[in-house]
Amino acid sequence: MKLTQPFTKAPEDAQDRKAVEPVICYPVDSLEQPELELYQNSRQSAEKVSEVLVKPRTAECFNVPAGHFFRITSVEGSQVGDLNLWNAENLFERFYSGKTRALHGTHLSTGDRMWSSFPSLRPMATIVHDTLDWYGFDEFGGSVHDVIGTRCDPYTNNLLSDGGQYHYCCHSNLTRALAEKANLSLEEAELHVHDVLNVFMCTGFTRDTGQYFMKASPVRPDDYIEFFAEIDLLGGLSACPGGDCSTKHSSDVASCHPLLVEVLKPQLDTLDGWQKPKLNGYDRSHGL
Ligand SMILES: [Zn+2]
Repeated sequence: MKLTQPFTKAPEDAQDRKAVEPVICYPVDSLEQPELELYQNSRQSAEKVSEVLVKPRTAECFNVPAGHFFRITSVEGSQVGDLNLWNAENLFERFYSGKTRALHGTHLSTGDRMWSSFPSLRPMATIVHDTLDWYGFDEFGGSVHDVIGTRCDPYTNNLLSDGGQYHYCCHSNLTRALAEKANLSLEEAELHVHDVLNVFMCTGFTRDTGQYFMKASPVRPDDYIEFFAEIDLLGGLSACPGGDCSTKHSSDVASCHPLLVEVLKPQLDTLDGWQKPKLNGYDRSHGL
């Protein structure tokens, strides 16, 4: 955090330096835009092929073939979820929340894509519908579906709670679920768990100190967010122990609810013109 009483005296031109207008780091105008209309038309023909209910303070893994849709729905009460995505054939290609944030901003909605890690850096999924798109940003600078948090985890909890041992943080839930799904040891699975898309979570940074904050999620039963799988995906979703994240996480204090994941298969001929994104085109010679 920045000092309230800096050690260094401000230079004479401090105000001029601070008044410089910002520029967007990564303008996305040159990115290939998703064909939302194609996806949304294709979605009309889609039928459910599987579903899984994620119980509170647990996680589940699920497969979504390329060209299918998946939907995450709040079913009983306000609840946030922590979403991981992997390439189903290669767990080392996984969702890259930091680069997704750099490209699309702090909070995602319809038309944004979830990008994969280096060296692949390609769209893994595209958001095609979001019933909380009306929320925008609130007066505190908060919004939903963030890529600024990481995932609640037992290590940070241990640091902040004088040695606490809590086992149902999203990090641990995702670790157990991936270990079971991919037949890995806990130690192996844990290394594949990564920073998440915080589905339905309402977060931001305080304007005065720049600290990460959360507030009660505006999600209500039947709200959902829906994705199109650009590649064969393995997903992992944890129903966060923070519940609606209005008070605490990393404990059993908050009231928690399940989340529903549904996978939907469209008629193939409705996706004419769509292709799986290729691996990133950088040649990887790194100047040598
Ligand atoms: Zn969590």
